[in-house]
Amino acid sequence: MSSKCSAEIGVIGGSGFYDPGMFEPVSEVKIHTPFGPPSDIISVVDIKGVRAAFLPRHGRKHSIPPHMINYHANIWALRDLGVRRILAPSAVGSLREEVKPGDLVIPDQFIDFTKNRRYSFYDGAVVGHFSMADPFCPDMNRRVVECARRLGFSVHSPACYVCIEGPRFSTRAESKMFRSWGADIIGMTLIPEVVLAREAGICYTTVATVTDYDVWADKPVTAQEVVETLKSNVEKAKKVLYGVVPGLAERRECACERSSESALV
Ligand SMILES: [Zn+2]
Repeated sequence: MSSKCSAEIGVIGGSGFYDPGMFEPVSEVKIHTPFGPPSDIISVVDIKGVRAAFLPRHGRKHSIPPHMINYHANIWALRDLGVRRILAPSAVGSLREEVKPGDLVIPDQFIDFTKNRRYSFYDGAVVGHFSMADPFCPDMNRRVVECARRLGFSVHSPACYVCIEGPRFSTRAESKMFRSWGADIIGMTLIPEVVLAREAGICYTTVATVTDYDVWADKPVTAQEVVETLKSNVEKAKKVLYGVVPGLAERRECACERSSESALV
């Protein structure tokens, strides 16, 4: 295991997206942060000639539930490795009839319905109020959507992701309420990950893949169906990553890295 290695691109793998072996391995790095350890050892991998740092959000054995993930340590560790742009595949539920299991969704907005997380790196002497008007990197979102369409996948964007606390799923009343708020997909891990990335000046985009309809739809699925959809979704997200990452090594056409200029008090 090498002590240090750099990578410009970060991949935070969500449910089903744990295995660094899906990419060409370069080295593994164990990083310590002021916030404690990240979710797992970080694998530095090669994606079509570009170095990327791969971190499974829930750990390689999916042992960390959404509300217990050390998001601060994860973002800090990636930043420490030199990561400037993060792609975050994640599994979500659908709140819309037309957003079907197996579809890809690239959200441009979120609604935060979490309740008990640490939301900022700026908890101490320095006060920061970062703009969240457009929380995702517009440049990366555009590239991911174009790539997914080129690959022939069914992709929805723009879209709104509602993040719930978990680990429990929503009640029917909650699910219907989220629909009435304009949310399109639902998950448990976006917050505070996307916020911390913005504070760290890192471009961030989510490649959300739909596993099933949320409880509003009253379309119960078996665990087996979910597992099969999850498996094919991981393959789709992987293809999108392979298509997008080489282009990300180019210069950034966004203001994400200058986010703190207008935020610090
Ligand atoms: Zn950006």
